[in-house]
Amino acid sequence: MSVYDDKPWLALYQQGKPHGITPEFANVVDMFAATVATRPNADAVRYFDGRITARELDELSDAFAAGLADTGFVRGDRVAIYAQNVPQFVIAQLGTWKAGGIAVSVNPMNRARELDLILRDSGASVLVCLEGLYRDVAADVVPGTDVRTVITTSELEHQTRCDKRVFSGVERIDCAGTVDMATLIDRFRGTATPKVQLDPDDVALLTYTSGTTGPPKGAMTTHRNVVFNAQTYRDWIGVGPDDVLLGAAPLFHITGLIAHIALSLLTGAPLVLMYRFDPEVTIETIRDERVTFAAGSITVFIALMNAPNAERSALASLTKVYSGGAPIPPSTVRAFQDMFGHYIYNVYGLTETTSPSHAVPVGADAPVDPTSGALSVGVPVFDTVVRVVGDDGRDLPPGEVGELVTSGPQVVPGYWNKPEETAKALPGGALHTGDVGYMDSDGWFYLVDRKKDQINAGGYKVWPREVEDVLYEHDAVREAAVVGVPDDYRGETVKAFVSLRPGRSADPDELIAFCKERMAAYKYPRQIEVRDELPKTVTGKLLRRELRG
Ligand code: AMP
Repeated sequence: MSVYDDKPWLALYQQGKPHGITPEFANVVDMFAATVATRPNADAVRYFDGRITARELDELSDAFAAGLADTGFVRGDRVAIYAQNVPQFVIAQLGTWKAGGIAVSVNPMNRARELDLILRDSGASVLVCLEGLYRDVAADVVPGTDVRTVITTSELEHQTRCDKRVFSGVERIDCAGTVDMATLIDRFRGTATPKVQLDPDDVALLTYTSGTTGPPKGAMTTHRNVVFNAQTYRDWIGVGPDDVLLGAAPLFHITGLIAHIALSLLTGAPLVLMYRFDPEVTIETIRDERVTFAAGSITVFIALMNAPNAERSALASLTKVYSGGAPIPPSTVRAFQDMFGHYIYNVYGLTETTSPSHAVPVGADAPVDPTSGALSVGVPVFDTVVRVVGDDGRDLPPGEVGELVTSGPQVVPGYWNKPEETAKALPGGALHTGDVGYMDSDGWFYLVDRKKDQINAGGYKVWPREVEDVLYEHDAVREAAVVGVPDDYRGETVKAFVSLRPGRSADPDELIAFCKERMAAYKYPRQIEVRDELPKTVTGKLLRRELRG
């Protein structure tokens, strides 16, 4: 019995849709096999000057899996993938699953300390890495980890959209001591390997997230989670083989994994990969490839509206536009609709819910919270039960604000090797999201705040502790506190407050440069304020809330 039974919005929610979803496949490999069987010659992945059909993707990933098996790789072993949106990402991920492995996605913006943490925590034995990232970052990190095999690959191997601009001057790099992915695949092409048994509860992905507390941890996304939310996207929105999917969201993030890779593997709709998001090239790509489905965060939609080639006709092929990962104001939805004629559907979820737990139903106009002016994040998707819980753990009635607690087949079973964190965030299997909001009397959900300290910079999540830890490494810094402050473009951006050791000096620009060198570009503080003292509780705990203003 769901808490939403007998709610009027159910009529809307159920418009022509089943209330529940029956997972059609035991795992992602079987899911893709069905697509290969029905549409072998359809494009699975498209890029700048090439395409890979479903059959080719099947063969390439078979060869990759055989290559892994040859290294002694067995079921449950981890392959870290550290790359931008290149076709090799998809080949490596699918090949890893075929070999019974777990794919660990690493943000290509991550620097050495972040990569080191993920490689050590996941215990990955194989690293798939773009050549430039290997030379600049991974080569120094790998020796201190369990990685035994490094498979390098080049942007130039399968060029992707943006090439003309991004890849001018790119050369192949000599990565001594590594295996070249193309060579590996050539060597094992056509090699028959035994099919590895994969159960729905086997972990398919480790996706690193700060979660609600603490430093990054690997959310264990199972094959069941992936199959379920790929079907959710397909059935909620109505995506089919005639759609064309824009692949501009980063593939390492859960949105890219589900709304790009898994949705394409399930439906047979081609995935048009963009090496990285570039507004001008995105507009050209949508126009040239007749893209129908685009999922991104608010920064993507604002950038598209401001691109020099933003013309209504260029985006005419789009029929399904979805925004998630960060709040999107109703004014942005309206402006986009005025400019391009497309309504942006809001979708909400977390890494731990394998992307969507809520979405605005097709054809509905999401209501706006009368007090805050925030757009509703929609209603829970199929088979998902979301409670609004007060501080005392009791369910709250409609209209009252509490923490959202989510249960459903897309909720991950826990964090990799972190039983305590798992017990805290997922007691009894229900995810305590750290998002604070309410449900109105019609069943629409609204987010009003975050219980967690996480900063949401246009969909990129920054955990203050990570930035503070880096600041503490600077020998002039005595105390550091990092908070999110409002920002027109990113919604929120990173600001640090520091106090200095007696007799030491450091100016904000120097501290910003210090951070920039040591962390992914989206994380370093854009503003630093030096104060004599930082506000603290009587027990000495820094009061971030007070600094937020
Ligand atoms: P991640 O695990 O990176 O996907 O981040 C999940 C967090 O992003 C959630 O806990 C929310 O705080 C935020 N978020 C995701 N979707 C939305 C949305 N549609 N509106 C507002 N915040 C969102």
